[in-house]
Amino acid sequence: MRKTSLAILSLLFLASSTHAAPGAIRCGKLLDVRSGRILTDQVVLFDDAGTITAVGPAASTPLPSGVKSLDLSAATCLPGLIDVHTHLTGEPGDSGYAGLGISVPRSAVTGVKNARRTLRAGFTTVRNVGAEGFSDVALRDGINEGDVEGPRMIVSGPALGITGGHCDNNLLPADFHRKAEGVADGPWAVRAKVREVIKYGADVVKVCASGGVLSKGDQPGTPQYTLEELQAAAEEAHKLGRKIAAHAHGTQSIKDAIRAGFDSIEHSSLIDDEGIALAKQHGTYLVFDIYNDDYILSQGAKAGMLPESIEKEKKIGRLQRENFRRAFESGAKMAFGTDSGVYPHGDNARQFAKMVEWGMKPLDAIQAATVNAAELLGWAGKVGALERGYFADVIAVAGDPLADVRLLEAVKFVMKGGAVVRNDFPAR
Ligand SMILES: [Zn+2]
Repeated sequence: MRKTSLAILSLLFLASSTHAAPGAIRCGKLLDVRSGRILTDQVVLFDDAGTITAVGPAASTPLPSGVKSLDLSAATCLPGLIDVHTHLTGEPGDSGYAGLGISVPRSAVTGVKNARRTLRAGFTTVRNVGAEGFSDVALRDGINEGDVEGPRMIVSGPALGITGGHCDNNLLPADFHRKAEGVADGPWAVRAKVREVIKYGADVVKVCASGGVLSKGDQPGTPQYTLEELQAAAEEAHKLGRKIAAHAHGTQSIKDAIRAGFDSIEHSSLIDDEGIALAKQHGTYLVFDIYNDDYILSQGAKAGMLPESIEKEKKIGRLQRENFRRAFESGAKMAFGTDSGVYPHGDNARQFAKMVEWGMKPLDAIQAATVNAAELLGWAGKVGALERGYFADVIAVAGDPLADVRLLEAVKFVMKGGAVVRNDFPAR
């Protein structure tokens, strides 16, 4: 009985909270992610469009008449987190042959579940890089229209790749004529494919430059697209106003993609000193997904990943972490991206502890998932900080995340655009 009424109450609360109205949050502590300073007793004010209008000390920030503040005085507030490399419409179990039995509509339904999970874990913005059948476009639009609970999404649609490459589907023999929809060979075919994904709703373009781990018959270190093809892709994407991300594990492909003008290198596993220097020179963001190695090695076989994929991960996982440390120490720009979907959605924040284990301070890792990620997305000024004019995307934890970054694995409060998504802090 008590349980039922509580459930009804929380449903009512959620229903009312989805209607944006002016409001305020009173944060016992607030992390200024730019300076790393923890400010005490702060108020975040936002308007009915879910945009922050003021942030300041509670004592000197008057509430507009009729606005009551939500009490998070026992919490530390920070901006909603950003993961720049997700696959919300996929699951770890979709790898290998099991994936052939999953339709595009089914993957869209999977995306609905994972969008909710990801948002509730504190990630209020994601960049989704690779989904079949434009299921990510549908998911983004459903979220934007309020049909589905989920983070703000920047989406790529299907990733471009060479015939037989990491982003083709190489599981079936020739008689099935199976080809992934992002396959394009040669500069002009690549340009046409970039135009096509943008035509159907891509906000960003994803290109598989090198081989990968969770694919059949290729090697992560091997180049796939040529420099000429990568240049065509980057030029076309930029001409049409989109950023472009390269899946690149291999040393040569990383350098080719940077030279071609890509905005970010995903995985970056086998980057060498020249690659790091090039990334710094070009201002290219490096995205190292250094958590999921643990999951692939411990759970991958059970999840149905191909034996060859597990072998590839064994060779590359540790090198990727070592190169993450070198790139960070060399001062390359880094953004937080996890490849969620390779491991279960909602565990995204587990990567923070890995980043700290491999050389970052907690603040560096948090900046990678806030201000830096926002800049990579082209959304600086909108997400990644709690400042006037930004979306009221606020999360809160019970303690100091600069002292214990693992607190981000247990986010207790999530607000997106002024609407409360979850609040596990007891009412006071
Ligand atoms: Zn990925």
